Amino acid sequence: MAVTVKTFANASEAAGALSADRSARYLGGGTLVMRALNEGDVSISTVVRASDQALTRIDASGPRIMLGAGVTFARILAERDLAFLHAPARSIGGPAVRNMGTIGGNLFAPSPYGDFAVALLALDATIAVQGGFGTRDVPIEEFLQARDRQAGALVLSVSCTRPASTDAFRYRKIARIKPKGGSVITLAAHLP
Ligand SMILES: Cc1cc2nc3c(=O)[nH]c(=O)nc-3n(C[C@H](O)[C@H](O)[C@H](O)COP(=O)(O)OP(=O)(O)OC[C@H]3O[C@@H](n4cnc5c(N)ncnc54)[C@H](O)[C@@H]3O)c2cc1C
Repeated sequence: MAVTVKTFANASEAAGALSADRSARYLGGGTLVMRALNEGDVSISTVVRASDQALTRIDASGPRIMLGAGVTFARILAERDLAFLHAPARSIGGPAVRNMGTIGGNLFAPSPYGDFAVALLALDATIAVQGGFGTRDVPIEEFLQARDRQAGALVLSVSCTRPASTDAFRYRKIARIKPKGGSVITLAAHLP
């Protein structure tokens, strides 16, 4: 089946295209979307992409950090100011997956994936979402509860408060196959 690829320079236009077409799927790093397409998933007839630089922005200088949804795990690992997120970023797949995979895509990754989302949940992150209703900030807990209904909405960014000290945030992933296995359980805790 033919798949149409639509690329937009602006995140708002990409969000509009997503919300207007039930069979459209946003392409982040594509580690899951491309696998689905290659396996013949016929529910996707349009792939929406956005080259908007806002989606790959990192603001990590202050006590509140903001990561564009298109930020990859490799970029997080390259940022010294994001050291508290290195353990969850490093726990995801191998180098190829970390090079392409994004935090936006991780929010939608089905079990046993979604390790970075677990870390963001412990950090009480806020998700900025743009849909047919406009843009709004949603607490991650609410976002994850309604995740299956979020199809058609574009995640713009994620923000959270930096832990007060290195001891205040802990992350552990338990997997049968190391270092690249899917998780049996992922634990994260943020002590205020
Ligand atoms: C070999 C392999 C190993 C993996 N290992 C792990 C692992 O250890 N831990 C783990 O958590 N995950 C793992 N994954 C799953 C996946 O690679 C990651 O979860 C990654 O973060 C997905 O991001 P992506 O940008 O590639 O998503 P994509 O494939 O681009 O998208 C995934 C889903 O998210 C949606 N999406 C993406 N970005 C947005 C956005 N901005 N707004 C709205 N919807 C969006 C897409 O439409 C799609 O439905 C693995 C995958 C593979 C292939």
